[in-house]
Order: sequence, then C-alpha cells, then structure tokens
Amino acid sequence: MKIMGINKILTAILIVCLSACILSAGCTGNTNGNEQTQQQTLQPTQQQTQTDTAAADERITVAASILPQKEIIESVGKDKVKVSVLVPPGFSPHTYELTSGQLRSIADTDLFVSMGSGIEFELAWMDKIKGVNPNMPIVNASEGIAFIDGYTEEDGTHVSGGDPHVWLSIANAKIMAENVCKALAKESPKDEEYFRANLEEYKAKLDALDGEIRESFTDMKDVTIMTYHPAWSYFVRDYGMECISVENNGKEPSPSDLAALIDTAKAKGIKVIFASPEYSTKSAYTIADAIGGSVVLIDPLSENYIDNMKSVAEAFKSAAAQN
Ligand SMILES: [Zn+2]
Repeated sequence: MKIMGINKILTAILIVCLSACILSAGCTGNTNGNEQTQQQTLQPTQQQTQTDTAAADERITVAASILPQKEIIESVGKDKVKVSVLVPPGFSPHTYELTSGQLRSIADTDLFVSMGSGIEFELAWMDKIKGVNPNMPIVNASEGIAFIDGYTEEDGTHVSGGDPHVWLSIANAKIMAENVCKALAKESPKDEEYFRANLEEYKAKLDALDGEIRESFTDMKDVTIMTYHPAWSYFVRDYGMECISVENNGKEPSPSDLAALIDTAKAKGIKVIFASPEYSTKSAYTIADAIGGSVVLIDPLSENYIDNMKSVAEAFKSAAAQN
C-alpha cells in the first residue's frame, strides 16, 4: 500500500516535470525578439541578486560551538556578523558529532569562536575543523577565565584540568564577550569602535543582570542545589552557593550513588532536583520521588543567554524557598 502511494506521487511529479519541460521548451522556442525582451527583463534581477550577495558577504561569518555563544557574538557584532552554531538545540556538546555538511560549511567561514574550555565536542573535532579551513582564525572564548578544577570526562580521566561549563557564570560571559570583540576587531579593524561600543552595551546588560541576581540572592548563601548534569559550578560559586550533581562522570548514578544522593537531599532539605533537556531525567525523578520533591528543567545551553540565566536564577531561588 505504501509503495503504491509513493508510485502515485512519483507519477504525479513526473507529469509536473514533463509539463514544465514542455512549457520551457515553448519559451526557448519563441522568436529572437521575444528572447531578447526576456533577457533584458532578467538582467536587472540578476544584478540585484549580485548586489544582495555582495552586501551579505560583507558580514563576517562566524562559527561557534554552542548556542549560548551566539547571543554573545551577535551582541558584539550585531549586523556585521552572521553566526552559525555547530551543536544544535537539544544535543550535548560532550557527545555531539559534526555532520559532513556542517564540516563543509566551515570551509566558507571567516572566524571560529571556540569555547576553549575543554568541552569534548571541540577536543574531538577541532583538528577536522582546522583541516577544512586552515586559514580561518580560531579564537579561544575562554582566554583569561579562571577554571574551577575537578572536572573528569566520561571515562574518569581529567580533560583540561578544569570544569568546561565556564559560560554559566555571568562574569565569565563578560570575558567571553571581550575576547569576541578583540577577534572581530582583528577581522574588521574599521569596525573596531562599533564592536567596542556594542561590547560595552552588552557588558552593562550582564552587570545589570548580575546585580539583580545578587540583590534577590541575599538569603541564598550556602544554599545547596541538586542538578542532574554538573553544569552549574561556576554559577553557584559566583553567588556563594553549593551544588551536588546526580550524574557520575557522565554516567547514570549507580543504585548506591542514588541511595547516597537521596540521603543527602533529605539531610539538606532539598525539594527540587534540576534536570536539563539534553540529558536523561530518569534519576532526577527517582530522587524526587524518594524525597517527595519535584523535577524542574533548566537549560545550560539556551540560545537566549541573559533571559535564560535570569530564569535559572529564579528557579534556584524558588527551589531554595521550598527547602
Ligand atoms: Zn555539560
């Protein structure tokens, strides 16, 4: 039945194609005078397209690894950049594999902004990325950021000596924006002032957000949150909080790990287990059920950086209120 349906569709497509061919043959079969008129009317459109392409080409094409980088790069570069992100929404930068199409697209990219924080996606793919575009400058967005130590990869080995989730600190996002600004200015020196002004504007927004969070977090010092994925160490450090992760070196916790996490949650009066859209929520629900609490999703990889950090702060605040 299914094949019959496809055959019918293919027949229909064939008929449409044949009709189109007959029609276009009719066009080319016109008199020379008509052909001339047609070419003349086409020319301005072709010129227009060329002009549009030239205008679009003036933008610096920038590729980045993860979605939170996009807002930072666009805030500094505004209409002078065209940003593409390699790890798509819903995928983890710890495990994502580039498609061949994505790799090909990098060949036409002017600038690569790496996270540079030891995230596995970059460790695995950076050589291939360099390979398709050897002349493309690669900026390390994390240059100048102080890492929190103690991050281990899935097989338990130490990766970069630091927790790679550096973007989840507003103070670090400011450093990332500065690094992007320097790189864009190098790419297009005539726009340096423009990028610098945009950088100051974005840093002011980040400062305002940080100030807002500090003001609402006056009673959050020493509060412990429990998250599935260990992404929030930088955030909790910035505000004097603590966090415990459910995931154990990239793996689901063992039954004994789970039992220990449930005991800790009970002892600390934790009522909310945070999980993320990119990772399994199973163990978060197991713990939540055992403590009579709930699971709340927060996203470490949202494209809307400032809005997302604001919602996460609100989620942490409301979880602490339930302790
Ligand atoms: Zn992560």
